[in-house]
Amino acid sequence: MKPEFAEVRTLFDRVSNIAIISHLRPDGDAIGSLLGLARSLQLTGKRVTCVSVDGVPEKLRFLPGAGDIQRKLPAEFDALIVVDVSNFDRIGIPNERLPRKPDLNIDHHPTNTRFAVLNLVEPEASASAEILYDLLLALGFPLDVDVATSLLTGMITDTIGFRTANVSARTLKVAAELVELGAPLSEIYELSLYRRSFEAARFWGLGLSKLERQDAMLWTTLTLNDRHRSSYPGRDDADLINMLTTIEDVEVTIVFVEQDGGKVKVSWRSRSELDVASLADTFGGGGHHMAAGAIITGDLDSVKAKVLSATKAVLDPVMEMGK
Ligand code: 5GP
Ligand code: MN
Repeated sequence: MKPEFAEVRTLFDRVSNIAIISHLRPDGDAIGSLLGLARSLQLTGKRVTCVSVDGVPEKLRFLPGAGDIQRKLPAEFDALIVVDVSNFDRIGIPNERLPRKPDLNIDHHPTNTRFAVLNLVEPEASASAEILYDLLLALGFPLDVDVATSLLTGMITDTIGFRTANVSARTLKVAAELVELGAPLSEIYELSLYRRSFEAARFWGLGLSKLERQDAMLWTTLTLNDRHRSSYPGRDDADLINMLTTIEDVEVTIVFVEQDGGKVKVSWRSRSELDVASLADTFGGGGHHMAAGAIITGDLDSVKAKVLSATKAVLDPVMEMGK
């Protein structure tokens, strides 16, 4: 067994009341990892509280246990586990309000800052849920159909249906084993990734109508007004970026989503050469080489100008090299 896994076992042997938390604006890997780990630990008899400060997005509410997720940490717990979080600020609870340093950090972001006592960080994994499967299997923890459903949801959503560059043979083997355990592949695909609301489609339409491109850089904006006009309830881009990355002859795609309180959520996607995680990092965000994000303070126009010029500055040399 990997030494880190043995250390995790020692931790689990020692504690019985566990809190697990993931990141703000949670995605499928955040919620899937949270619920998959929680369910397995519960099956061993532990008391587990799942926390997501921003709640659970509508399209992930089908997951078993999603209704039990809390928005606040419980008053007492003897271990705090953080899943799918690269940077501690992303849990949405100020450091000083925590009674303890997190005991365990399980994540696959290369920009992970290793903020916990024990850090299980594997950037080659396609999703945090993939790491959890390996961990639970190695420790001999229960893997029932609910655990499998949550973990497979994490993998399917983070790889956009197994089509990102970090999908490995191991990823597909793990997915196959989760299907063998009873996880309903096509249903998860449909509910978590493919199906969208009428409002989301209208929100897309407003974003698509403003699509702009300069050489290999493509971008669009979604304003608070667009959100209002389409009645889209989320604060995200309704996954518009995944549609935009299907557009050919583009190296980097950016979506700006205006937020309340004078902030803008920026998402970048690249085609391999350009490292958008380090770009996002310069704006206080983070992520993966080919998919990253940041929340930037400022009005939409000024954030847009800054981000486009910084992105162009790193994109131009890459394009020059490719000529
Ligand atoms: P998205 O653009 O879909 O929100 O996020 C893409 C990737 O970037 C995800 O892996 C996510 O974890 C990371 N990411 C998004 N927003 C932030 C942020 O504000 N801070 C950090 N550190 N990472 C982010
Ligand atoms: Mn993830």
